[in-house]
Amino acid sequence: MEYICIVMAAFKVLIVEDELLIARDLSQTLKRQGFHVTKIVSSAQAALDAIEAEAPDIVLMDIVIKGEKDGIDAASIIYQRYHLPVLYLTAYADEETLNRVEQSQAYGYLLKPFKVKELSTTIRIAISKHQQVEQLEWQRCRDGLTGLFNRIYLEEAIVQHFQQAERYNWPVSLIFIDIDHFKRFNDTYGHDAGDYVIKSVGYLLQHSVRQVDLVVRYGGEEIIVLLPNCSVNKAAEIADNLRLKVSSLQLHFANQDLNSVTISLGVASFPLQASDSLNLIKAADEALYKAKQNGRNQVVVADSSSP
Ligand code: GH3
Ligand code: MG
Ligand code: MG
Ligand code: MG
Repeated sequence: MEYICIVMAAFKVLIVEDELLIARDLSQTLKRQGFHVTKIVSSAQAALDAIEAEAPDIVLMDIVIKGEKDGIDAASIIYQRYHLPVLYLTAYADEETLNRVEQSQAYGYLLKPFKVKELSTTIRIAISKHQQVEQLEWQRCRDGLTGLFNRIYLEEAIVQHFQQAERYNWPVSLIFIDIDHFKRFNDTYGHDAGDYVIKSVGYLLQHSVRQVDLVVRYGGEEIIVLLPNCSVNKAAEIADNLRLKVSSLQLHFANQDLNSVTISLGVASFPLQASDSLNLIKAADEALYKAKQNGRNQVVVADSSSP
């Protein structure tokens, strides 16, 4: 008889606790329960450093800790910056503290002393809830066909990119891309082959830009690339490079070689051609329209004269 042994990776836990004896005891308990303790730290800053060094699945947070920031401040930073679930473990529970705890997006609260089973169950529930939240958030921000970001995400993210650009005095560029004569392509090869092309072009674009750039399926066969801290000249150069790459993409679908596709691209940049995010999309879209009118398979940069 054959046995299959499935070894589940242990959940990684970071302990933030200023009383070393308590922290060590907790660490031993967790290890016995099958968790992996990444580190024991006693201040907010040390917690952030520890997360940078090795990301845990969950942070167990005492409230009164060393340093300027208490555990509740630390939990808020950790959630916002790293999207990690935080579970409070504390002996300290006056009403004001509890109110602050409630507002800090924590995944739970355990009052010391707690039972071992209570601790491990609460940790597992918190990790599982967090995984569900992350998955829902991923789906909310993604396009189902390509896995690229969707328009909802772009509209949220672009506001933040503009705030950052204004703070650091950066340009933000946007490339609006549309596949040429795609209706004809669908009519020739069928809708499934068309879907495959959108996926292939999306994949190629995603893997041709920097990690900080956002690649977004904006509509049917329209893709936007948002390039933070990128000048319009650089963006135009990148756009032409993308155009060449797409035109040389070899496509095979259902045992059939497909004709290659081309794309048209409109480029615009903040603050040169647009003063806000809506106008940036509009300016790039207008440039794209000109690229189509000029004969397709080309890059057009938006007019600088009317921001
Ligand atoms: P142009 O060069 O002017 O962009 O011509 P076009 O045919 O690409 O433009 P048009 O906007 O007339 O048509 C877009 C086509 O894209 C029509 C639609 O069927 C197709 N399309 C949109 N979304 C999808 C999709 O998810 N899958 C497939 N297969 N086709 C799609
Ligand atoms: Mg303490
Ligand atoms: Mg279109
Ligand atoms: Mg098109």
